[in-house]
Amino acid sequence: MFGFTKHCTVCGMDVKKETAIKRFGKYLCSEEHAQQYVQRREEEEKRMIEERKRHPERRGGGCC
Ligand SMILES: [Zn+2]
Repeated sequence: MFGFTKHCTVCGMDVKKETAIKRFGKYLCSEEHAQQYVQRREEEEKRMIEERKRHPERRGGGCC
């Protein structure tokens, strides 16, 4: 319960805090998964921007 072990955000594998790669506050097991995660994030961001363009009246105002 000391939080020494983290889990890779991409594959869920155990990663050591000292050796893990950190991106946007998330732990990744390898450079490969770090890149995958960054890419996925960027795609999600792009999709959100597209969504917002398509639905300008529906703004993300905190309410789900
Ligand atoms: Zn991984």
